Amino acid sequence: MKRTEYQALRKITGGYHGSSHEKLLAIAHIEPLEVILDDISVRWAARATRTGNRTIKALLDQQATTLRDPSLAEWYDGRGASLTRTPLHPIAEAFHKTTITPEERSCGQSNNTATTPLIDLTILEPQDEKSHTPGYWQAGLGTLLDEGWRVCYTDGTGREGETAAGVYSHDRKGNPPRSYGSFAGNISSVEDGERLAIALALEKEEAEMIAIASESQAAIQSIRNISKGVPPRSQIECRIKKALTAGTRDIGILWVRGHIGICGNEQVDKQAEFESILGTISESSKIATEEGMKAISKATRKCFRQQPGFNPRTCEWNRQALSAYTWTRTERGPQNKWLHHIKKANSPLCSTCGATETGHHMVFECLKYEGIRREFLAGKGSWEDLDKADWRKVGEGDKAWYFEAVEELFGHLSTRGHDGEIDLLVGELGMTKTDEAGR
Ligand SMILES: [Zn+2]
Repeated sequence: MKRTEYQALRKITGGYHGSSHEKLLAIAHIEPLEVILDDISVRWAARATRTGNRTIKALLDQQATTLRDPSLAEWYDGRGASLTRTPLHPIAEAFHKTTITPEERSCGQSNNTATTPLIDLTILEPQDEKSHTPGYWQAGLGTLLDEGWRVCYTDGTGREGETAAGVYSHDRKGNPPRSYGSFAGNISSVEDGERLAIALALEKEEAEMIAIASESQAAIQSIRNISKGVPPRSQIECRIKKALTAGTRDIGILWVRGHIGICGNEQVDKQAEFESILGTISESSKIATEEGMKAISKATRKCFRQQPGFNPRTCEWNRQALSAYTWTRTERGPQNKWLHHIKKANSPLCSTCGATETGHHMVFECLKYEGIRREFLAGKGSWEDLDKADWRKVGEGDKAWYFEAVEELFGHLSTRGHDGEIDLLVGELGMTKTDEAGR
């Protein structure tokens, strides 16, 4: 598959044999096939998590049992064969643990059990036009504490893609403050971390009046929905639902704006950060949600799209210009440095300047092209400068002009490939007949 992809890339970009696969992907403005396929499978897995697909779950259960059954391992070892413990694909692993069964989905619906209605505790923002009293926040939280609520600050963090949840709770009834949290893994979103923190707080706190403080509007909304009877969408939401239905305590929910200097918020930030650093070495099981899977997959694709040179504009150029851009940028082509390297030229040096003739030299430095460079490149001195411009062929005025100009410059450079003797080398450099015909 990789080979076919590479061949296709060379046809698209006019790149020479030996050009870096990654650079060709960027120039052709194409994400790796692997990443795209992975994204498709993640989307399917994510959908299956939501619908609680029994067939897939059964398959995964079976696989997991086979892999972890110690007696089976013994059986294998006894026969001199080693059981290769292939770990489950991380998504499969998380899916195995977190998929929701239809019973869980209908939890609270089938038997008409109403969850504890939530009490909306609204605290005004300090700069809110309704409140001109500075420090109203503290006052509001103080009032809650005086009324006897146990305030639980919840937070999710996504440090380097490793989501974790943290909770800090305190009250004014003489109970000691508590800090705890859990690692959520690397296939859940920050919002999932926020939800997990809320689930943890609901499960662990024993007070009769619990006020959950969260800075995530999304997490708060999903709890409101659950309390109104909307089916849970993930394992975390199932846990929240179970915790809401258990007991008859008062549960209040309030939105706090993060990083505003509330002591509890700072405490909980630290706790979540700590859980994230603790990460995989902690014992807590990883979780995955539809949202999280999609978010992570999206991030992977974005990562590729932000590579240097990953810009749609070059694809719109004519064949000659694109090909010249490709071989100067990938440093594989009819520049003397490469020709010398493959023993097709006597010297790696530029005949005009005496410097090593690289693609970079030709585009940005060589005196031979100084004239057309001054005319077309308009002071752009590096590949990064070329990457930055977001001009398209469809643009008007200056932007369209830039497009034409840079295309023109590379078009001019492309004639280099047809210079007498060098032209004869094109075949030997790895260009096939089809490549030539396509140019
Ligand atoms: Zn030169």
